[in-house]
Amino acid sequence: MSQQDPVERASEDEEPLHFEQASWQTSEETYEPLLSEKGTSEVTVESPLPDDLTRDSVELPEVEEPELARHYTRLSEMNYGVESGPFPLGSCTMKYNPKFTEDLAARPDASVHPDRSEQASQGTLQVLHELQGYLADIGGMDAVTLQPPAGAAGEFTGILIAKAYHEANGDDRSEVIVPESAHGTNFASAAMAGYDVVSLPSDENGRVDTEALDAALSEETAALMLTNPNTLGLFERDIEEIADMVHDVGGLLYYDGANLNALLGRARPGDMGFDVMHYNVHKTFATPHGGGGPGAGPVGVVEELREFLPDPHIREEGDTYERYTPERTIGKVHGYDGNWLVLLKAHAYITRLGDSGLTDASAKAVLNANYLAEQIDYEIPFGPFHHEFVASAGEQDAADAAKRMLDFGVHPPTTKWPEIVPEALMTEPTEIESKRTLDQLAAAFDAAKSSSGETLADAPNRTAVGRIDQTEAARNPRLSWQALDE
Ligand SMILES: *Cc1c(COP(=O)(O)O)cnc(C)c1O
Repeated sequence: MSQQDPVERASEDEEPLHFEQASWQTSEETYEPLLSEKGTSEVTVESPLPDDLTRDSVELPEVEEPELARHYTRLSEMNYGVESGPFPLGSCTMKYNPKFTEDLAARPDASVHPDRSEQASQGTLQVLHELQGYLADIGGMDAVTLQPPAGAAGEFTGILIAKAYHEANGDDRSEVIVPESAHGTNFASAAMAGYDVVSLPSDENGRVDTEALDAALSEETAALMLTNPNTLGLFERDIEEIADMVHDVGGLLYYDGANLNALLGRARPGDMGFDVMHYNVHKTFATPHGGGGPGAGPVGVVEELREFLPDPHIREEGDTYERYTPERTIGKVHGYDGNWLVLLKAHAYITRLGDSGLTDASAKAVLNANYLAEQIDYEIPFGPFHHEFVASAGEQDAADAAKRMLDFGVHPPTTKWPEIVPEALMTEPTEIESKRTLDQLAAAFDAAKSSSGETLADAPNRTAVGRIDQTEAARNPRLSWQALDE
């Protein structure tokens, strides 16, 4: 039988394509048993260490190698990730990470000890220096630090740099302005840096309300934090005017560049008037993310802010690369040069794609979001959008709709944020998905849309694990078999 078009099937009122996740149920109630239930739990190992330094036994289950391999394979089949299917989790840029970067990072000569002398680390320093330059070019910035280990850490670093700049000018400012639709980390970073956070409402088109901005700006404004396209996927058309307004009161303009794949090769925050920004290499530049990292959130700055960069920074002197301490550095924000192997992967990804590949990525990120939006039967209140859109589940609860989508072999979008769209489904398919996969996604959206209240409340049904108590899982995670046993 030939492949059927999932969209066509859905419209014929039949079930669209779906897959059933492996569940490895061994009896009515038990899923894949714990290793401790599979094997004997005492292992005695002869140790060459002195007796007072060793335990008599380690509570490790003893299972044979094939059992062990099958156990972990089964668990992985009960899971879902970017290698299982589409993952359109808005604002998170969950895309497949090509394996050639992993091969590079796994090479023995890539694992250099950070205390090795500079002379013996020239290759490492060169890669880092080149990446500083690539990112500066991509963002339209004058200098880039690679130290921060995540996007949020980049924001915090960037705001500390802004603070150090104002203080160096004898300018004691107390406020950072953040649009109400901004990523939650923006508010947290500004507050952690000691600022009062002023929340800025959106206008009726979902963009920065310039009148409200005018009212919020003052001599107390240290910075305005903005992302463009914003969390609704909309381009802030008044960005030049906004930049002038902020600069006129002596403030700095911060760019949250977590979702830069909408702009790659087409527009640069530096050219729009931004003074400081962060990049998420684990989103835009396809280094792995999720599960808490490791990632990297490099920070770019304009020339006036270069001397405040974290210590150390890397520069090229003659034909050698060296670390130095910027004159008025904010200090260290991470150990050594940052997450080196993650940065190596970002360097490899950018080099492999080149200018034309990066420009192609932003085209596809925007095309895919717009194609998917066209296919689904949901209201999308704000547009035109770029790399993501925010649909409304309308009468349905967005979380229910999302759970139902799981039954069709896709990961659902981000739900209930930004709050400006009721029952928000914030959807970012990313540039890597094929038309066929986008059609599968569209079918999952529409299957959720046409599901009865009863089905929705009960979903998901085809996954290895049914609906869980998300609040309990987040507040009280049981991450080990000991915790489960208790
Ligand atoms: C993901 C994201 C961040 C935070 O990045 P982390 O690496 O998760 O700390 C900040 N802003 C926006 C818009 C994001 O999407």
